[in-house]
Order: sequence, then structure tokens, then C-alpha cells
Amino acid sequence: MAGAIVTIGEILVEIMAVEKGNGFLAPQPLIGPFASGAPAIFIDQVGRLGHPAAIVSAVGDDDFGRLNLARLREDGVDVSAVAIHPGAATGSAFVRYRPDGARDFVFNIRDSASGRIDLDSEALAVLAQAGHLHFTGSSLGIPAILGIAERAVDIVKSRGGTVSFDPNVRKELLGDPGFRRALEAVMAATDILLPSGDELHLIAGVEDEAEAVRSLLARGVAEIVLKRGAGGASHFDRTGRTDAPGFVVEEIDPTGAGDCFGATYLVCRRQGMPVAEALRYANAAGARTVTVKGPMEGTSGFAVLDAFIATTKGAGA
Ligand code: ATP
Ligand code: MG
Repeated sequence: MAGAIVTIGEILVEIMAVEKGNGFLAPQPLIGPFASGAPAIFIDQVGRLGHPAAIVSAVGDDDFGRLNLARLREDGVDVSAVAIHPGAATGSAFVRYRPDGARDFVFNIRDSASGRIDLDSEALAVLAQAGHLHFTGSSLGIPAILGIAERAVDIVKSRGGTVSFDPNVRKELLGDPGFRRALEAVMAATDILLPSGDELHLIAGVEDEAEAVRSLLARGVAEIVLKRGAGGASHFDRTGRTDAPGFVVEEIDPTGAGDCFGATYLVCRRQGMPVAEALRYANAAGARTVTVKGPMEGTSGFAVLDAFIATTKGAGA
């Protein structure tokens, strides 16, 4: 599968509180496990679109791992580089929405199987076939991934491949010197940056949007695709700017929108579509995701996206 899109990062299950409220301090109804993990959602969407896709990750020898592997396989993702660690449990995230839309989490990632991700022979075999490597900021909190990111980048870039990065940054993490160093290392290799909200400013260190874009392009980022939630997205490169409106939908569950957006944008561009068309598909993939409950339940292939675009307001066509 030459030219595959490959990602490195955590595979998790997500377990959601049924009722809104504050955290997990009392027994309550829960629903799950759902297949999850930002890199896993991203690569599932790549697979759904029919593009060669693989993930370097790790799970435990348990049902949470089996559920994820079955799901990724079914959607066309090569999971040969997902190590199964008998001594570790698959990662998990418990999430509960507050009445104001904010979220409380209980994560088990660093100490789960995902904390043991390594460049073993299966991972190296997958990277040897990669045309593109994608990172998600959520993975940069895992020390094991910091240790292998640079080597993986070198392998893919030495063969003429490209690198994308979705910062998924939380302000709290930026204060951590280890995270900041990892962020700088990945940024130095990034060809396509996929920020949302104020991540553009946090990374560039400048408030003004245009100035932040200029400074990142000057640093060597070839393309910036800024996600604007319901407002759609904007694309920037050296030749200028392209805006694409969002689709009008009812938001049920925002988790996974950014990952599905990024995956769809990258696949469309690798298939040779112009920026405007790639943005339309990416906006459609993001919008469809938020209408479905569950982090990975809203991934969609081209047939579903075409139908969605044809029947949803705001295509901007
Ligand atoms: P995530 O919560 O997954 O990290 P993000 O913050 O990276 O998401 P967003 O801008 O929230 O990124 O969403 C990504 C894309 O999904 C948007 O650019 C848009 O195309 C689509 N999208 C997200 N929310 C909505 C919405 N409420 N209505 C329509 N489209 C949406
Ligand atoms: Mg995001």
C-alpha cells in the first residue's frame, strides 16, 4: 500500500455519561464502550474514504482493544502495527457533559497500552509504505510517542512523504516544557497544519489571525487549514486564502469533528482535488460527525458525504 496515510497515537474506548451534570462523583448511568482516540478516529475516516490507511498504536489483550481493532479493520484500516500488550489494559476516557456544554474527563492513556507504543518491526514496515504521516496533539502527552515521533518523521520524509499536524492543544498542556518541546519538534516537520479555535494563536504566539498565518507560512508550513466549527474552514498558503462555509446541522456530539475534517481534507487533496472541493468534503465530514452520538460513529465514505452535501444547507457550491 504505497502512499498510505499513517498515524501514530492512542487507541481508546470512550464511555459517556448518559445525563448532563458535573463529573463522576456519584454513581450514574453510562453508555459505552465506543471506539475512540483522536488518531484512531482520524485514521478510521481515512479508511472509510477508501484511501490506504494504517495506525501505529497499542492495545491490551482485552475487549476494549478487540472492539477497536474490529472496527478499524471493518473500515479498511491496516492494524498490523497495533501491538497487543498482554500486561496492559487498553486506554479509556470517561466523559460527561456539563449543562453549559463543557466536558469533564477521566483519562487512562499514559499508563494504558497506549503508553507503550513503539517502533517495532511491524511499525517500521508500515512506515516504509507511508506517503503521509499525521500527528494529533493529544498524543504528544504520551512520553513513548515523543521518543519515536522524530524517527518516524525522518523515515517518511526521507522518502519524499509529507507530515500533517492537528494541534488539539489545551492551554494547560502548553505550560509543560516536555509538551512544548514536542510541539516544536512536530511543528518543525509539519507541511499541513490543521488548527482550530485559538490554536493558531497559541502556536504562532501572535494574536492577529493574518499575522499568525504569515509567521507560520514563513516558518515553512506549506498549508494551514483553520477549522471554524459551525463557521466552516479557511485555507491559507503562499498563494492566498480560500474560505468555505459550514453546513447547517444540529450538533449532538462535537467529538471527532476535527479528526474527520482533517482526514477528509488530506484524502481529497491526495486524490488531486482542488482546495475548495477538498474543503467542501471536509466540512461535510465534520458536520456529519457532530450529528451522531459517539466519537467514531459519524465517520463516512464518499457516497454518504455526497448524499449529505446534496441534502444539507450551506454547501456553498
Ligand atoms: P474537535 O472537537 O474534534 O477537536 P476541532 O476543534 O478540531 O474539533 P471544529 O472546528 O470544532 O474542530 O470542527 C471541525 C470541522 O467540523 C469544522 O471546520 C466544520 O467543518 C465541522 N463542524 C464542527 N462543528 C460543526 C457544527 N456545529 N456545524 C457544522 N459543522 C461543524
Ligand atoms: Mg481539534
